[in-house]
Amino acid sequence: MNILLFFAGCAEDDSTEFTLYPDNNNLFFRKLFPNDQAQNDSAAAYLAHGITLQVHPKATYELSFDVDPNFEAPTLQLFRLVLSKDETEWHPTKVRSLEPTIVQGRYVYSFICEENDKADWATSLALDDTYYQGRVSNIRLTGDGAYSDHFSINMILVGNIEQEIKDYTIEELASSLLKEFRKQYATVTIDTLYINRAEKHPTLGSKYPANEPWLAGYSSKDFFVSELGGWPGVENALDIVLVHYINSDGVLGYSNLFSGNLGKGTESTVVLGTHVKTPYGEDDVSMKDIVETALHETGHFFGLRHTTTTIADVEYIVNYYDFGDYSNIEDGLEDTPRCNSTRRVLLKVSKTDINAPMPRIYISSNTSSFDPSNCPDADNYMFPTTVKDKVLSFSKQQLDIIRKNLMIFPH
Ligand SMILES: [Zn+2]
Repeated sequence: MNILLFFAGCAEDDSTEFTLYPDNNNLFFRKLFPNDQAQNDSAAAYLAHGITLQVHPKATYELSFDVDPNFEAPTLQLFRLVLSKDETEWHPTKVRSLEPTIVQGRYVYSFICEENDKADWATSLALDDTYYQGRVSNIRLTGDGAYSDHFSINMILVGNIEQEIKDYTIEELASSLLKEFRKQYATVTIDTLYINRAEKHPTLGSKYPANEPWLAGYSSKDFFVSELGGWPGVENALDIVLVHYINSDGVLGYSNLFSGNLGKGTESTVVLGTHVKTPYGEDDVSMKDIVETALHETGHFFGLRHTTTTIADVEYIVNYYDFGDYSNIEDGLEDTPRCNSTRRVLLKVSKTDINAPMPRIYISSNTSSFDPSNCPDADNYMFPTTVKDKVLSFSKQQLDIIRKNLMIFPH
C-alpha cells in the first residue's frame, strides 16, 4: 500500500508540474562555482533562462539573490545535463523544483546534490509558467561538503626533470613544498606528499620518456597532462604535475579555476614548470618560485580567484564574441585589496586555451618594465605574477574558502 501511494505521488508530480526548460544556448559560459564571492553579474542576468552550477555529490547548497519587490517569488527549476549518445548535444532532465524562503530581503533556495559524481546542473526561474522577469542581483551560491578537511599531495615528475634542475634536488623541493603547504594552508591538513615519476606509471609510462624535457601543451596537446591524475594507489591526492616548462611565454603554472576534482580525469591536476619559456628561450625557475607557484595554482584549484584580475581571467571568446563576465574584476573578498594602478599592464596577459586555465606569470627583472611591488596585494599568494622580495600569505577569507571547497570535493 505504501509503495503504491509512493508511485502515485511521483506520477502526480510529474504530470501536473510545469517544466520550464532553460533556453540559453550558451549556458556553459555562465557558470557559478560554490563559495565564489565575485560579483558574477552575467550569471545573475541569465539565471532565469539558464546558467550552470557546478555541484558535487552529497554537498548541500544555497542559491540566493536579492528580492525584486515588483514581482512574486519565482520557482527555481534545476536540470541535470546529459550528453547525447553521439556527444554533440546536452539534454536537460529535471532534477527538482524549489520554492524560496526569504531571509533578510533575499530569496534563498536550498538543495542537496544527490549525484554520484561531479556534475553541471542547469537552471531556470519560473513565474506563472514563463521565465521570471524580475531583477536578479547579488547572486551567491554557497556550498557545504560532506568530505574531510585533509588531503595528500602527489607530485608527478614528467620527463628529464632531475637532469635539468640545478641548485636543488627533488627531495629538497618536495620537502620545501610540503613545509610551505602545511604552514600556509592553515585551515586544512596535508597528510603526506608522494613523489611519482611519469615513466613509471603502470599503464601510461611508455608515453613519458625519462630522457627528454616535457613541454606542457607541446609534447602533448593537454597542458595539464590530466591523464596522469588519479595516480594508481594515491587516487584521491592532489596531483601536482612538474614538467620542464609550459609552452606559453612567461607562464609558471596552470590550474583551472575551481577544478573540483581530486580523483582522475579532466581538471584533476595542476601543472608547474621547473623552467619558464621566454621570447628568447627559457629561464631557470628558482625553488622558491616553484613552491610559491604550487601554492598559488592550488589556490585556484580550490576556487580562489586572483586578487587583481588579468584579461586572461575574464576574457572568454567564442566565435569572435566575448562571453567574459567583466563584473568579476576582483575576487569579492573584503580582506584582499586589489591593484588599480597596474591593471593596464596586467590586462596584457591573454588567454592561451579555451579551458580558461589560471596562470601565474613570471616577471623577470630584466625583461619587464612592470614593477608590481607597490600593489597592495603584491604579498598575497593569489596575486597573478611573481614579485621579488615579498613574503607571501593567504587572507583569512581565502583560507576559509579553501577549507569549504576541499570538503565539497569527493576524496
Ligand atoms: Zn593564477
